[in-house]
Amino acid sequence: MKFELILYHVIVDDISNEICKSADLAECVRQLHSDLEFREAAENVSREFCELVESLNTNTALYQKLKSSEITESSRLDDVDRRTLALLLDDFEQSGVHLKDEQKAKFVQLSSEVFNSGARFQENCDRIVSVGKFDQAKYGLPSQIYSPVSNSVDQSKRKMVYNTFYRHDDQQEKYLQKLISSRHQLAQLTGFESFAHRAQRNSLLEDYDNVKTFLWGVVEKCRNSFEKELAVLIDISAQCNQYNIDSSKQAATIADHDLGFLMHLYREKAYDIAKVSRESSQFFTFSSILNGFSTLSQRLYGVQLVEEPLVSGEMWNTAGVLKLKAVDEQMNELGVIYVDVSIRPEKAVGDCHYTVRCSKYLSDATWQMPILVLSLGLVDGHSHMWRDSGISFHSAETMFHELGHAMHSILGRTKYQHVAGTRCPQDFSEIPSNLMEYFISDLGVMTSIIRRSDRPSDQLSVEAAATLLASRHSFTAIETVQQAAYGLYDLEVHGPIAAPQIATGRMTTTELFYDIMSKAMPHVQRSPDSAFQHRFHHTVQYGAKYYSYLVARASACLIWQNRFLDEPFSRKWGDCWAEVQSHGGGHHPAVLLKKILGFRPTEKELTIALSKESQHLANLDAITV
Ligand SMILES: [Zn+2]
Repeated sequence: MKFELILYHVIVDDISNEICKSADLAECVRQLHSDLEFREAAENVSREFCELVESLNTNTALYQKLKSSEITESSRLDDVDRRTLALLLDDFEQSGVHLKDEQKAKFVQLSSEVFNSGARFQENCDRIVSVGKFDQAKYGLPSQIYSPVSNSVDQSKRKMVYNTFYRHDDQQEKYLQKLISSRHQLAQLTGFESFAHRAQRNSLLEDYDNVKTFLWGVVEKCRNSFEKELAVLIDISAQCNQYNIDSSKQAATIADHDLGFLMHLYREKAYDIAKVSRESSQFFTFSSILNGFSTLSQRLYGVQLVEEPLVSGEMWNTAGVLKLKAVDEQMNELGVIYVDVSIRPEKAVGDCHYTVRCSKYLSDATWQMPILVLSLGLVDGHSHMWRDSGISFHSAETMFHELGHAMHSILGRTKYQHVAGTRCPQDFSEIPSNLMEYFISDLGVMTSIIRRSDRPSDQLSVEAAATLLASRHSFTAIETVQQAAYGLYDLEVHGPIAAPQIATGRMTTTELFYDIMSKAMPHVQRSPDSAFQHRFHHTVQYGAKYYSYLVARASACLIWQNRFLDEPFSRKWGDCWAEVQSHGGGHHPAVLLKKILGFRPTEKELTIALSKESQHLANLDAITV
């Protein structure tokens, strides 16, 4: 009898697959099920899985076997094996399994401090602010404020609402200080200079310094476009204020609390959105966007989405859901996507996708069929017209984004589930979804794939499509610089200089935030006491990696410009991109990008991609309000 030796990382990946198939399903049920009993049961299951995973990740015997296989099995490993093995080991080390006993105790203590302070901080991010009687009377405000946005024409009211909502909060600062301090100690315990250094493992830009160069590069290279857009807003602001202030005092500055309002005003006046919305409403419905996406992926990769009937009891909710089968040109099934678009109070907020089961090569030489769930809050699922209810262009873009994630998993053909589909570093996993946004934002693509469900021969007029796009992409430079500044804050608050100072109370996060924003956006005035970062959830989830979105957008922009801009339905590049996506996280992001771009983009090339895009979009006409 021939006895075949099974590699250790294959066994660990198999165990992990069995756990994920149940744990990921439980998580999806916990977030989406309409029946409270199911949600509660799923929550209990999720908790038990967390404990099981934690106990396996701290299992020294399992870790040591895997670690020694790096050497004992080295002659039998290819590149993907080696990378998967390294990622599995990294997961164990994330749980402190490799540390000495007393360090391990410290590690556990710090991890729970990170979890607790992070959870407390997040609970408070969306806190409601009370307004005093005097201000209620003076500004005509309710007793509580839920958001920083006031589109009042009264500038002092806008300022008051914004600054009250974002006022520095001592309790939030304490939670944040604890979070930063624990993360910093955790990073140092595991041999890193700071948490910002530790967080860059396996990422495209690879280290803290490259990330910093990239982000300041974006700020500098987008400066001209940023100032052009700002000048348009200053002009509007001056027109609004011409009766209020001495014209000689119209300095070339603008306040952060006014940015949102002035952009809103510009879009209202510059584009006839009401007329365009009327004209395009029949074209932008849930089913037309879904069909448009299917048409696009059929032309790019030969993959079609076909609706399947639902079996009774198959779904977690009965209204506003459907099941799609992804099939190739020979009608072979590639995977299943469930889409839940109903708005319901019990459903978790936010648009997202769940990988309930991912692609993996099985021991019987078949592929495990991926199952994805998309959750979007688009329509009233109980309306009999829900498929044909109008949605905004922004929602259409979001649908393309989330379907882009789903297609990444559908196209996956990895040996291991640990690196399947979207299980790759976030700066890469957001590229397929961002690229889909470039497709839907192209005038030619949009008018050719988005058709009315009832009259498919009708095409959206080029004028209406162009207006929608111009409005959507106005002020891209301001948005990009703002995102880069938030990324810099998130990086530096975890960085080697600020983190120890914040941990010891020598600096507050508000001071750091003010400093970074003043350097990144010097013409925008702000109150030193304004603490946007006290409401910035992402500090907890992304910890020194919020910038990944910008890297992914820049990469998607390069792919779009180099491969699809001139020929958006190119099957040659479509097939190439499908092949790149099939590797999931099995290779380093730079290796994958080289396959589609022909070169490995540096942080400089990524910066230039974003700045070119903002130059192109920053030519806004001045308007009279
Ligand atoms: Zn995404």
